[in-house]
Amino acid sequence: MLNLDLRKIYRFTPVALKPSEALPSGAMFYYECLDCQVIVNSVPHTPAQCACGNLSGAGGKVDVRDPSRLRVMTGKLK
Ligand SMILES: [Zn+2]
Repeated sequence: MLNLDLRKIYRFTPVALKPSEALPSGAMFYYECLDCQVIVNSVPHTPAQCACGNLSGAGGKVDVRDPSRLRVMTGKLK
């Protein structure tokens, strides 16, 4: 699986969420897997997966195996 390092292109800022809050999704939101540090867009249009399989997405949706092992971030082009 091809995984491009998005950190080279985007500047990421962590988003503070309340524990009960649903994960935000949208083109500006990214999820970082805390187990393998791979970043996946929250609305991936091409299949995207982190290295350990916690996050896997396609068709504009991400399936999260363990939501406690991810960090929500916003990304802006550098
Ligand atoms: Zn992972």
